[in-house]
Amino acid sequence: MKKKTHQFQTEVRQLLDIVIHAFYSDREVFVRELVSNASDALEKLRLKQLTEHAVYQPERELRIAITTDEEAHTLTIADAGIGMTRDEVVEYLGTIAHSGTKKFLEAMKESKGGAQDLIGQFGVGFYSVFMAADKVEVTTRSWEPDAAPVKWTSDGQEGYELADAAEDTPRGTSILIHLKEDAQDFAKPERLRYVIGRYSNFVGFPIDLNGELLNTVQAIWMKSKKDVKPEEYEGFYKYISHTEEKPLTYMHFSADAPIVLNALLYVPEENPEAMGFGRCEPEVSLYCRKVLIDSKPEKLLPEWLRFLVGVVDSEDLPLNISREMLQDNSLLRKVSGIITNRFIKHLEGIAKKDEDEYQKFWRTFSRYIKEGIVTSWEHKDALGKLLRFESTFTEDGKLTSLADYVGRMKENQKDIYVLYGASRAQLEHSPYLDALKARGFEVVFLTDGGDQFVMDSLMKYDDKAIKSIDRADLELPDVPNAQPDAPCLEDDEAQGLATWVGDTFKDRFSKVSTSDRVTSAPAIALQGSGDVSPEVRAYLKAMGQAVPESHPEIAFNPRNPVVMKLAELRKSDEALATLLADQLINTALLRAGMLDDPAKLADNSQQLLEKLLNR
Ligand code: ADP
Ligand code: MG
Repeated sequence: MKKKTHQFQTEVRQLLDIVIHAFYSDREVFVRELVSNASDALEKLRLKQLTEHAVYQPERELRIAITTDEEAHTLTIADAGIGMTRDEVVEYLGTIAHSGTKKFLEAMKESKGGAQDLIGQFGVGFYSVFMAADKVEVTTRSWEPDAAPVKWTSDGQEGYELADAAEDTPRGTSILIHLKEDAQDFAKPERLRYVIGRYSNFVGFPIDLNGELLNTVQAIWMKSKKDVKPEEYEGFYKYISHTEEKPLTYMHFSADAPIVLNALLYVPEENPEAMGFGRCEPEVSLYCRKVLIDSKPEKLLPEWLRFLVGVVDSEDLPLNISREMLQDNSLLRKVSGIITNRFIKHLEGIAKKDEDEYQKFWRTFSRYIKEGIVTSWEHKDALGKLLRFESTFTEDGKLTSLADYVGRMKENQKDIYVLYGASRAQLEHSPYLDALKARGFEVVFLTDGGDQFVMDSLMKYDDKAIKSIDRADLELPDVPNAQPDAPCLEDDEAQGLATWVGDTFKDRFSKVSTSDRVTSAPAIALQGSGDVSPEVRAYLKAMGQAVPESHPEIAFNPRNPVVMKLAELRKSDEALATLLADQLINTALLRAGMLDDPAKLADNSQQLLEKLLNR
């Protein structure tokens, strides 16, 4: 084959343009990226050796060899791993195949100019080599016995050149890096030893530098907890997550029954989906006796745990398990169940020991816990313990749990009361609170979009039903009237008013009444028992789906002066009374989030004012 020139994909050129102008301090990242690629290639080879009949040069030792040449200003990173065929070279080293790199590009577009800051945060993969190189030669031979070796050469500008490599090229990949003038310190062994030293002990294969062994290979997740130092846990996290950040927390555990299992799982400091990069991919790798089976198994953990990074190792898994088998394997489902339970317990443990520490986690990752309640039926009760929220009993900004709520429940209180809305400030003025305040009952404020789905899934906590206080079917114990002498509609007047309103606004409401449940506002709207909640209505509307007609209940406050006036007015000036009633009702609906057309309220006020001024 002759030499052939290829163009880089546009995205690769964009990426290279940023990479080439990287901060000096970020440059050393390329060493980590290339060593990690070499290690990945060796992991993949190890699995091939166990599962394939024929592998090219099976006797080659699985190690990473780094050599420097200070005079030539070059550095070579070579591995005896899986290698690449010609087609693979074109795909992997000419396009953006790596999802982390895609994310980097997306992040870059969002950040407008701050791209340089992002390089340190994202693993930009192979292309990061051009931070330090002005020419790179990759010579590679695949494990597949009849694949021809190829050589890829590029200056990281427009494209690359592909040519045949020497027939005696051994299996694996060798990357010869010609260092830029201002990056020539990477040809110094001391500099490399320092850079590699920080994570080399987490690489699963021996690394040598000019023939000298740099690391002791160990799988820290297989060790016993007492033998791993906190800085080793941190170092391993930095290595596998390709960042310089510390994890927020981690969990290391092993089990012998019913399945032999070792797991080391980390929670990142930041929510990986917070910056608008879309859904993150699972980053928990699956091993079997230290052999990597799949670096991104999809069904290993439930979806809502996708923010975790780490390793799960089980010797009970068959080594030759295929991706399809991984999807539908009862053993894997058990593994998933055990890890999920343990992780939930781990979070509970943090909360017990240090609530502030737990709330740090909660403030960043609450959405995932809530998602878990909605999607993992078998874990929802355990997850309910992890919920935090504000309530009528907490100070502004302070959070409490359902367990604490239950601990504060009054003797005659059966249920847990919640109220949904946009903010605490808005909810604090809700007329629904009146009845609960009068009884000294605490009400939970739920202000996240989606909270209603979460509570509808949870349904109860500690055998106490969770009830939204805007529902008409709320049953509350009687409360002695605090002001028995205050003016109030007589029973028959109240009955007459309710009947009149019901007849006047025929079919709009499932029920009209006067009720002690309302004490501050003139009237409140309550969700009829068959109605879908305001949040579900809003959701259906947003999805362009048909919203079922609702039939709320209206309850008037028999002690409110406007309501008392209305009871008289309906007999003397029915037209005006109708306008006034409509106004009270629409206001109540608006406050309840049940007024579909706010223009009605405006029109009605206008007419009402005109009528009053002309009287
Ligand atoms: P990632 O490692 O996250 O997939 P990279 O940009 O680091 O992304 O590498 C892109 C791809 O190039 C890898 O997925 C792998 O298929 C291939 N590759 C890179 N280095 C090697 C290597 N040393 N041996 C074999 N394949 C490699
Ligand atoms: Mg990589």
